Amino acid sequence: MNSKIWLSSPHMGGNEQKYVNEAFEANWVAPLGPNVDSFEKDLETFLNENVKVAALSAGTAALHLALIECDVKHGDEVICQSMTFSASANPIAYCGAIPVFIDSEKDTWNMCPVALKEAVEDRISKGKKPKAIIVVHLYGMPAKMDEILKIASEYEIPVIEDAAEALGSTYKGKSCGTFGRFGILSFNGNKIITTSGGGALVCHNQEDKDKAVFLSTQARDNAPHYQHSHIGYNYRMSNIVAGIGRGQMEVLNNRVDARRKMHDFYVEIFKNIEGVEVFSEPTADYFSNHWLSAIVVSPEITGKTREDLRLAFLEDNIESRPLWKPMHLQPVFADAPYYGTDISEKLFNDGLCLPSGSNLTDEERTRIKSVIIQFFNK
Ligand SMILES: *Cc1c(COP(=O)(O)O)cnc(C)c1O
Repeated sequence: MNSKIWLSSPHMGGNEQKYVNEAFEANWVAPLGPNVDSFEKDLETFLNENVKVAALSAGTAALHLALIECDVKHGDEVICQSMTFSASANPIAYCGAIPVFIDSEKDTWNMCPVALKEAVEDRISKGKKPKAIIVVHLYGMPAKMDEILKIASEYEIPVIEDAAEALGSTYKGKSCGTFGRFGILSFNGNKIITTSGGGALVCHNQEDKDKAVFLSTQARDNAPHYQHSHIGYNYRMSNIVAGIGRGQMEVLNNRVDARRKMHDFYVEIFKNIEGVEVFSEPTADYFSNHWLSAIVVSPEITGKTREDLRLAFLEDNIESRPLWKPMHLQPVFADAPYYGTDISEKLFNDGLCLPSGSNLTDEERTRIKSVIIQFFNK
């Protein structure tokens, strides 16, 4: 059996253990600490735009806190991109709120501004103005932020950017995660950089960050004893985990380069295969970190399905994966309102994510390429 080729696996840079060891030597084996402070500073510098970053236990936790800071309460409605990982939508349910799902557009596969406007107007006409809009930069591809922000500001609804997959991506030169009232990042094991597990909330002022830190450390009031006037959470990042993050930040730009080269690798392979489209930036305004490279296979033209290709990869011990199944098609969200047509559903039916890791070897790329060539020549 050939060795396994993963879709996206952790890729350490070298200095991670040094920072983890420093934490051990100083006995900072706790939440908070110097690695957490430094990791936050590194992220703030990288993202630019004067942001304030709170390092947390997960991207999902960051989204939950963003919703709380946007005052989302039981029975409220929150707009969310349908085509995404479930972690974008679950925190809406944690708040007891109702998700309202929006279809994708074809250029970026992200939230369709036309369907968004329709949804906002319809929900308002039904007597309930949505409390927030969660937009996702899927697979690292920036969403149509100009159009989305215009609608959001017209109706004065805060935007929360789920940039879990998009660290290193920019739209019109500005970092994804810095456009909305809040942005969230993830450092889960399969993301472009990882801390084994972790996330961050991107804020635009100290007050918002302080509130996130307060809520993420059990909401203790300022008193010598344990005094609480809010419900708190245990969502802060640990000093050990942040040490891994500091090491990963040193190689983030290399990781973006490597992922983008994987995208170019697939563009080169598929340019001669009719009926397969490689997911690419629509214009020069969009700069994707290409966290995952993805394709859409047209069964009408190729006579083959993405599932056939997935199985052909599997036969050679290569992992590939269908695109995210839209949230409005998930049993758990069957009752949620939905605006749009069938664009995200079609993408799900015909789309496939391909091995995209920054640590793939030339030998592994040769194996991937030969499976693809053989499959489409059959
Ligand atoms: C990974 C991911 C998250 C969740 O991040 P965790 O750190 O795993 O909690 C949220 N949204 C999207 C789009 C993701 O890909």
